[in-house]
Amino acid sequence: MLTWKEVINFSVKGNPTPDKRVEKTEAEWRNILTPEQFRITRQKGTERPHSGALCAIHEAGKYNCVCCNTPLFGSSIKFESGTGWPSFTQPIKPNAIKYERDTAYGMVRVEVMCNTCDAHLGHVFPDGPEPSGLRYCINSESMILEIETDIK
Ligand SMILES: [Zn+2]
Repeated sequence: MLTWKEVINFSVKGNPTPDKRVEKTEAEWRNILTPEQFRITRQKGTERPHSGALCAIHEAGKYNCVCCNTPLFGSSIKFESGTGWPSFTQPIKPNAIKYERDTAYGMVRVEVMCNTCDAHLGHVFPDGPEPSGLRYCINSESMILEIETDIK
């Protein structure tokens, strides 16, 4: 399980190696994404709170990157944070997510990105529920939910 200390280490010393890489030009991303998906994932945008389609969804499944379809988070680690953005306590795998120090808007935050294609997803904060204490605050528009119908 990742903790805040490991997240900070990744953002300072370098990220884990992803299983694969997906790289496209800006024009290619524009072709396959909606304008809102493009604005958020490729231009580090943020959707309005409570506007995202995945906010109040609790079906079992995997949340995949909207750009490259790599699984990022599992529904079992989703929790209701009350912030208006889908929130998770852990990535689906330690190397699924990439972390970078973000000093925009006069704040020091840790940006989270897809480690496969560098899509901007949101930020991670150290005020999540135990045991990890992490809160990944993610834009709905950066993910697609792959519903698992055969979960027992
Ligand atoms: Zn991706």
